[in-house]
Amino acid sequence: MRPMPSEFEIIRRHFSRAAPSAMVGVGDDCALVRSKPGMTLAVTTDMLVEGTHFPAGSDACRLGHKSLAVSLSDLAAMGADPRWGLLSLALPAADDNWLSAFSEGFYSLAARYGVDLIGGDTTRGPLAISVTLIGEVPVELALRRDGALAGDDIWVSGSTGEAALALAALSGRIALAEPFISQCLARLETPEPRVELGGRLRGLAHSAIDVSDGLLADLGHILEMSGAGAEVSYELLPRAPAIASCDDAELVRECLAGGGDDYELLFTAPPARRADVDALSADLGLALTRIGSVVPGEAKTRLLDMQGNALALARSGFDHFR
Ligand code: ADP
Ligand code: MG
Repeated sequence: MRPMPSEFEIIRRHFSRAAPSAMVGVGDDCALVRSKPGMTLAVTTDMLVEGTHFPAGSDACRLGHKSLAVSLSDLAAMGADPRWGLLSLALPAADDNWLSAFSEGFYSLAARYGVDLIGGDTTRGPLAISVTLIGEVPVELALRRDGALAGDDIWVSGSTGEAALALAALSGRIALAEPFISQCLARLETPEPRVELGGRLRGLAHSAIDVSDGLLADLGHILEMSGAGAEVSYELLPRAPAIASCDDAELVRECLAGGGDDYELLFTAPPARRADVDALSADLGLALTRIGSVVPGEAKTRLLDMQGNALALARSGFDHFR
């Protein structure tokens, strides 16, 4: 197939910044990299498709940020240090302004976490962005989904639900005033991956996952892989100001527990380490909230109200094919 005429020009202009940590970066058939002794590679890929993951006409700079952020969040959830990235783009047209803004959003977040862009692919097609990241972690310290033990505390970073609340506002389900609408849109469009937290949870957390499909759905993945159940107190779920101010109780519950696009870390740790988790929270300036515990039995979560009664949820998470 004939490549889009300016394919090489696009790569040269927008995606060829120096990659000092690679032996060979953009420009050859493969990139060549060397990992640090004693480290295992952690590899992840994510795809963002226009119309599915973001609306047509989304801001290019923020898209560049988010397409990298979602993969950084996966490395964080594994406790891995980010190292190298590959970026594959399907573009409807070679729009220089769009590409400049997109690459700026991508490279500025990459610089913050020491990611070198070392390759990718560029083709014509409906707008789609795929980012592959390679990180490093000592293999015995990787934060896996299958390490939760009955008795563990369940913790979540930051707060959940604002991205979903932004979607509810965009779809007209609720009206959101300032400053809440801006706060929620920022969470939706420029999420902050919890990279430092992931690295610091090595040797502290028994298991971890990033919250991308909804808090309870993602907790469910830990439970299935670990062969245990969970009890979570609804009242303990951390609430951002926009969520706390929303008076639609049903929507709040959906957003908090099942919203998606949160990119917080959910992790389990033994109760003996509570003081260490609190100290880490203070050190990072990031809320870490204990929301429940892992219990023996079926891989199910009981969401409890203040009286200890089970609460029902209409929808516990996002699934593209449901
Ligand atoms: P090939 O024909 O071997 O697939 P390409 O012509 O697709 O090579 O790409 C040329 C070089 O540019 C390769 O090093 C590739 O990894 C890199 N590259 C292509 N597209 C991108 C992109 N969007 N971002 C970063 N690097 C890219
Ligand atoms: Mg190619």
